[in-house]
Amino acid sequence: MELLFERSHSGRSLENIPATTVSEYQLPEQFARRTPLDLPSLAEVDISRHYTELSHHVHGVNCGFYPLGSCTMKYNPKIGEEIAALPNFTQIHPLQPAQTTKGCLEVLGLAQQYLCEITGMDAMSFQPAAGAHGEFTGLLLIKAYHHSRGDGAKRTKVIVPDSAHGTNPASATMNGYTTVNVPSNAEGGVDLDALRAAVGPDTAALMLTNPNTLGIFDKNILEITKIVHDAGGLVYYDGANLNAVMGLVRPGDMGFDVIHLNIHKTFGTPHGGGGPGSGPCGCKAFLAPFLPKDQIKENAEGYCLTQPAQSIGRVRSFYGNFLVVVKALTYILMLGAKGIPEAAQGSVLNANYMKTKLSEVYDVPYDGFCMHEFVLSLEKLKHETGVSALDVAKALMDNGIHPPTMYFPLIVHEALMIEPTETESKETLDRAIQVFMDIYHAATADAESLHQAPRHTTVRRLDETRAARNPVLKYTPDKD
Ligand SMILES: *Cc1c(COP(=O)(O)O)cnc(C)c1O
Repeated sequence: MELLFERSHSGRSLENIPATTVSEYQLPEQFARRTPLDLPSLAEVDISRHYTELSHHVHGVNCGFYPLGSCTMKYNPKIGEEIAALPNFTQIHPLQPAQTTKGCLEVLGLAQQYLCEITGMDAMSFQPAAGAHGEFTGLLLIKAYHHSRGDGAKRTKVIVPDSAHGTNPASATMNGYTTVNVPSNAEGGVDLDALRAAVGPDTAALMLTNPNTLGIFDKNILEITKIVHDAGGLVYYDGANLNAVMGLVRPGDMGFDVIHLNIHKTFGTPHGGGGPGSGPCGCKAFLAPFLPKDQIKENAEGYCLTQPAQSIGRVRSFYGNFLVVVKALTYILMLGAKGIPEAAQGSVLNANYMKTKLSEVYDVPYDGFCMHEFVLSLEKLKHETGVSALDVAKALMDNGIHPPTMYFPLIVHEALMIEPTETESKETLDRAIQVFMDIYHAATADAESLHQAPRHTTVRRLDETRAARNPVLKYTPDKD
């Protein structure tokens, strides 16, 4: 497809900028451009067609089934966009006096109150801009806590299970901690003996996702958090995907001290293409004095900003991605105390339905009752037919289905991680199951056709290594 620069014709433009009443200003000579700015010249209709064509080349939740797994975008009600676009939310300035933005403070205050209620935490900061940023902030709280007790220098290790999301060890390392891996047991949960052997006076924290990336809820969770607490460590909950448990169980009741949420995954905000996200970091009361600056508190005059006594400082400018919080509050108020647990139950039902049907032909290595997602292993299929998880993922694209997360978690070989989400109908799931079955049978009948997939997408197999190592992200005009 032609780029905007290639469609450009000099002289064509969109000149409907309103006349200004501000007088012209001539830049001093030394700041003026020497060469003309190289921008494409296009009529409005050409620009509009360009972006519409571009939008047809991607697969999003508005195009079809998108069962990604782990980082899945869940339900994004359209009303969230409408509420977040209200001028009272968009036409404010972060340096406006707080008494002129009471409504916005109330949004932050209410969102904090509800999310604390849902997670069993006592306080929350909306500053972190995404999940990994929330993890980083949470570990800063843990570090500040250990230091405040004179215990910081010797607590140098963060324990992470081998099924963890890659951001967990990365956040620990960025905080100067050494990560210690604990293996999973046969059921896919934390191996308690390995955990007991790993904790000690050097343990700063354990980071855990429950349900984990295998979609398994660890039934030993109270024992796990106790083992870490008994060793003087704290327990961090990676709540990026809360949709399996929200309104049903609370990390705070499982013994977790700090959490982050990805409200751009679970609480109604679209993500992808780099943002915007929001990874609020919540904690129990004993850690609240360390939270980032500008906490929202309610007092007799309404909501106001306060500064926690031993704050770790700012982790981002102002109040985080505020409009994402507006969408999260809209989602919470819309679903309510009845709808939130219903959404969780729907996500678990849909995942178990798909898992049970697919396990008739595909291998499910940790085959217990799953939560919001499950992981297939195509190791045997690859061994027998040469068809890999990558081939199956590419073949799904030809059938209008977004590929699942592949080759993760690392403990499952030839992994396909599938999360159907709560909003898909039985008909959609049945169609997808049929596609998975057809691909499986094609693998045994005509493996070569699957190595060639996808055939019907705009681009076919890309050189993924080159695309990652040598990304070409900007237009360079031909030198002629
Ligand atoms: C998505 C995800 C993260 C990271 O969130 P980002 O917003 O991408 O930084 C962390 N943990 C889990 C389990 C996730 O699914």
